[in-house]
Amino acid sequence: MKILPITHKTLAEAVAGKLAGSLLDGSLKPGAQLPPERELITKFGISRSTLREALKMLEKYRLIEARPNVGWFALEVDEGNLAEAKELAGASRDQAERPARSEPPTGPIRLPIASEKPIHIPNLSKDRQGTFDFISWWDRDKVRNAKVLVIGAGALGNEVVKNLALMGIGNIFIVDFDKVEAANLSRSVLFRETDNNRSKAEIAAARAKSINPEIHVQYLNGDVTTELGLGVIRRMDAIIGCLDNREARLAVNRFCYWMNKPWVDGAIQELLGLMRVFVPGNGACYECTLTEQAIRDLSLRYSCPLLARQNILLGKVPTTPTIASIIGGMQSQEALKLINNLPVEPGKVTHFNGMVNTMHTTAYSPREDCESHWTYGDITELPARVERTTLDDLLRIACADLGLNAVIELDHELITKLECPNCHTVEEILRPLSKVSFEAGHCPTCGVLRETSLTHVITGDEPFLHRTLASVGVPPLHIVRAHNGEEYRFYELSGDLEEALHFRHFDSSMKVVVTTPRVRINDRIKIKDKETPLVIKARGRVRLRD
Ligand SMILES: [Zn+2]
Ligand SMILES: [Zn+2]
Repeated sequence: MKILPITHKTLAEAVAGKLAGSLLDGSLKPGAQLPPERELITKFGISRSTLREALKMLEKYRLIEARPNVGWFALEVDEGNLAEAKELAGASRDQAERPARSEPPTGPIRLPIASEKPIHIPNLSKDRQGTFDFISWWDRDKVRNAKVLVIGAGALGNEVVKNLALMGIGNIFIVDFDKVEAANLSRSVLFRETDNNRSKAEIAAARAKSINPEIHVQYLNGDVTTELGLGVIRRMDAIIGCLDNREARLAVNRFCYWMNKPWVDGAIQELLGLMRVFVPGNGACYECTLTEQAIRDLSLRYSCPLLARQNILLGKVPTTPTIASIIGGMQSQEALKLINNLPVEPGKVTHFNGMVNTMHTTAYSPREDCESHWTYGDITELPARVERTTLDDLLRIACADLGLNAVIELDHELITKLECPNCHTVEEILRPLSKVSFEAGHCPTCGVLRETSLTHVITGDEPFLHRTLASVGVPPLHIVRAHNGEEYRFYELSGDLEEALHFRHFDSSMKVVVTTPRVRINDRIKIKDKETPLVIKARGRVRLRD
């Protein structure tokens, strides 16, 4: 009998071995980009730190290289690294004889088994989340620490918030600009008659906290398309859209792509519903699913912007509480899967037809020319607040980084003037388009709808550079873009962080302490000063491939 020594390889070595094996057998070509980290984590069924360890190993052996803000790329296998590649690939074969954790699922879906999960007998008389510990893949810490943004607190949002609270999702942020009215009570489990005319987001957050006092909640009574800072989305683990219009979906889709965050969309009508997950760089995004005409219709710069906005706000769709709980339940589950690193199916839609009880899933085709497909590069965190920082301040910072031809590109349109086509009176104003009502767009003298002048690019020549970012509609903790025609920079107003993102509404210790550091601006930088040298670096927008 021949006894061979037992080799003990770590999980990271096994994963590195798999990837080295792909390089050796040619299935991973030199120069090819590795799949995104999230996808690798899901495929291998490993943690982020294990993946990082494996990638570092491959990097050390010069089998892959990192390109900042883009990802990992395979290198050529030659005499210099062949021995190392083979050694690592050998490590994988040893591992393969154990129960295969590292194989991507094929055929019928197998439930992932978290073998390293410690055995824990919950005290079910005291521990409200205790039964979840019996679920093999349930990661209690991940669930407790998760940050989930729920956009919309209508019929779907009520169901989603209820589910997230019951499951103990630790940090829930709810956004809605609407108020509770009697008609909501027939499909909104969180609302009561006494809530009439109060903020939906606030009531939903308060009820979530009362369902499960162990979680932390925050609400924003505002419009997600214009009043939520991108810095909030940047810090979320998952975003759930419970929206009833395309304009908001398109905005949420872009925000999530820019911040490289997965989002779960749901839509309902009568007894029909659909649910879909969008993950940047993985299959189609929401905008890919729209027709050219639909995108044109949504463009607020198209024909009369005030009228377009008015029409969007009027659309109402009849729904039932039953379809809301079916689709809201599915959305909550997808978010739970994202939090626990379980596989999801991005870019696919699941339709449920409650009339005949059929469910089918189909994949959308990603569009090559989709406008939504880009992700912000490095984000500069400024210790500045939107209330204190002027357009001029920010432009100076941008000019220091990007040169004198830097401009700021706002995410929203600013109305600079309203002109009456009838009596030719001109009203100079400076307000975000979303803050000017259809009624206010009419001429006070003759009642005709006035023509609007819009802008969203700040070049440095404007007469209103002294205005603060907040006064021109930039929300707290926002990330503002600047560019010089070649390169983008992204500036977060991180001074707003404490106030804009705390998850402490309805906590007994609720007290938001706000420190207000002043932004320091290098006074030596003069706008349009021809002496300042231009430094162009290849940084900025990163395009994710589908
Ligand atoms: Zn797309
Ligand atoms: Zn007029």
